[in-house]
Amino acid sequence: MPVSPLDLLALDSLLSDEERDFRDVVRRAVDEHVRPHVAQWFEEGRAPTRELAKQFGALGVLGMHLHGYGCAGASAVAYGLTCLELEAGDSGLRSLVSVQGSLAMFAIWKFGSDAQKDAWLPAMATGDALGCFGLTEPDHGSDPGSMKTRATRDGDEWILHGTKMWITNAPLAEVAVVWARTDEGIRGFVVPMNTPGVTANEIHHKLSLRASSTGEIVLDQVRLPASAQLPLASGLKGPLSCLTEARYGIVWGALGAARECLETAIAYATSREQFGRPIAGFQLTQAKLADMALELQKGYLLALHLGRLADAGKLRPEQVSVGKLNNVREAIAIARQCRTILGANGISLEYPVLRHANNLESVLTYEGTSEVHQLVVGQQLTGISAFS
Ligand SMILES: Cc1cc2nc3c(=O)[nH]c(=O)nc-3n(C[C@H](O)[C@H](O)[C@H](O)COP(=O)(O)OP(=O)(O)OC[C@H]3O[C@@H](n4cnc5c(N)ncnc54)[C@H](O)[C@@H]3O)c2cc1C
Repeated sequence: MPVSPLDLLALDSLLSDEERDFRDVVRRAVDEHVRPHVAQWFEEGRAPTRELAKQFGALGVLGMHLHGYGCAGASAVAYGLTCLELEAGDSGLRSLVSVQGSLAMFAIWKFGSDAQKDAWLPAMATGDALGCFGLTEPDHGSDPGSMKTRATRDGDEWILHGTKMWITNAPLAEVAVVWARTDEGIRGFVVPMNTPGVTANEIHHKLSLRASSTGEIVLDQVRLPASAQLPLASGLKGPLSCLTEARYGIVWGALGAARECLETAIAYATSREQFGRPIAGFQLTQAKLADMALELQKGYLLALHLGRLADAGKLRPEQVSVGKLNNVREAIAIARQCRTILGANGISLEYPVLRHANNLESVLTYEGTSEVHQLVVGQQLTGISAFS
């Protein structure tokens, strides 16, 4: 009797009943609202993001690991399992939830004033307001400390000027958390997207994350009240701490894409016949499947270990780098290997495999590229920073 890849080591036994129940609720929601449509969204290059945000909001997953303001205050492991199930549907959906909860909401929750929290967090938790997070610029990605976007004080106001690039959900968002250089260093600002001088342009022609909206934010002498600044964020560690939150979700999420690919490949291999027998019966195919199942389970154990550390309040950013580096790298290797098992069918949107592989190209790059995470780990191992 075949065993599903994550059941091989009975990894479910490491979860509490509550964690399993929550995971199952999210899995059912993805089955109902996402799986039947996602290939079409990917093909058309647009998803019903606003409707999905409201569905996810009703499910309680937007900002689910935060406390208060309508957020669920769930555990890090429950959040991770949610990311896994969402990304098994599509990396674009996990990106929506990551950007909303771990980047935009977390920045306001952690660094914002009471007024900023009251104004935005309850509506963002329900999905009635969409948020985005503007750190990357056209000429500054891995090195955000060199950003050009400037915020200048003018009496009681700030004037923001610059361009942010590759910003998830920017074209749809009601609010952006924008990071800008000031005379005192890098600071964060809560920018309503309908402020005069703010323009968001959709980035077209993507071959990855096509079921997710990505945009450019142009800030042309945008005037904001002094109260728009995030009062508790100072320096680059502000945005970097938000990225640690979101990267943690990716550690889990990437496994969801990999699991979906592996389950698809196993189902295909057991039914597809060549040379008079199922291709799953060939030793070379079984070697591929076995190696992929090993990496998937090792990645899951790593994610769960990081989740338990997070829930104990002991998770460090470099440990998240270990998780993101390993799990995204292995997930993309699994997706590409599964693609070979599906042969020509592997390149079709009839199957989820190449869609996931293409999505994982973005996941490999955003929230710190693999090279950046290698440098973070390398610094821990050697005590020498290769960044500067
Ligand atoms: C679909 C998508 C959605 C995104 N969403 C957001 C978002 O919501 N908000 C946001 O702010 N950003 C977002 N990004 C941007 C993302 O975070 C950046 O693309 C990422 O940080 C890398 O920056 P870059 O593309 O400018 O590449 P670069 O920094 O130019 O890097 C190019 C290559 O050089 C390598 N490299 C750079 N520096 C070093 C070094 N010191 N040593 C060795 N190698 C190095 C990199 O690893 C990479 O391989 C998104 C990107 C994508 C693709």
